[in-house]
Amino acid sequence: MDSATSKQAKAQIAQRLRKNVSSYLGETINIDAVLSDCLAAARTHGWSVEEIPVPSKPSLFALTRSPSYITNHATRIYISTGIHGDEPAGPLAIRQLLQENQWPDNASLFLVPCLNPTGLRLNRRENDQGADLNREYLNTKAPETLAHINWLVHQPSFDLCLCLHEDWESDGFYVYELNPENRPSLADHVVAQVAEVCPIDLSEMIEDRPAHNGIIRPNVDPRSRPQWPEAFYLLTHKTRLSYTVEAPSDFPLPTRVAALVTAVRAALAAFPAT
Ligand SMILES: [Zn+2]
Repeated sequence: MDSATSKQAKAQIAQRLRKNVSSYLGETINIDAVLSDCLAAARTHGWSVEEIPVPSKPSLFALTRSPSYITNHATRIYISTGIHGDEPAGPLAIRQLLQENQWPDNASLFLVPCLNPTGLRLNRRENDQGADLNREYLNTKAPETLAHINWLVHQPSFDLCLCLHEDWESDGFYVYELNPENRPSLADHVVAQVAEVCPIDLSEMIEDRPAHNGIIRPNVDPRSRPQWPEAFYLLTHKTRLSYTVEAPSDFPLPTRVAALVTAVRAALAAFPAT
């Protein structure tokens, strides 16, 4: 029995609800209130708040935090979520992380807590014009994604990127690792930690890709796919190590928020330089 499975057997954790049958039908959130909480917590704890204007749409926000002491070697970590409007656990996880304010001392952090505010307002995957923003990062038309990329090009490169998502079809948490240089992997540690609070999807195939122990390591060349998710843009232009973490949204919302919070904490704790 591998470690994730044995932890699952021991843990008294939530069961799949089986109520999301053709789309996500679970809890919704007031994204404007959640974002307002995020900004308030960020300001309280000394983060910089940058508004990213989006023409004819609600603004995006980037929250940045520098190390607690002067250093030229700070690890730069980027975390984003809320790109799919039917995935409420991501913004809630970011809010909890900001409110708890436990971050590595020697890291610079770059957070974007909601990339698709109109989608969250409508509880639908796409934005209010029907665009799946997580397919827009090569041939970009959506104003939210154009604004996000315009912000990204003015940022330094990142040592680690985390994109927080949910999947209403999955039997548990899973993670995509993009690690073309075979750097030390954080995936096993992330899965082992999340297994304490949320079931892991142990399927051998997830989203039509081979998976092992909740980890998908797609062997993809971004140039081979025309519809880039955010992670492909990040891998091509900003980072060499990216994790897309997926909470199972056919489970209770608190379980999914706990899964994403735990995944971020585990990745930060295991990252070599933090
Ligand atoms: Zn998603």
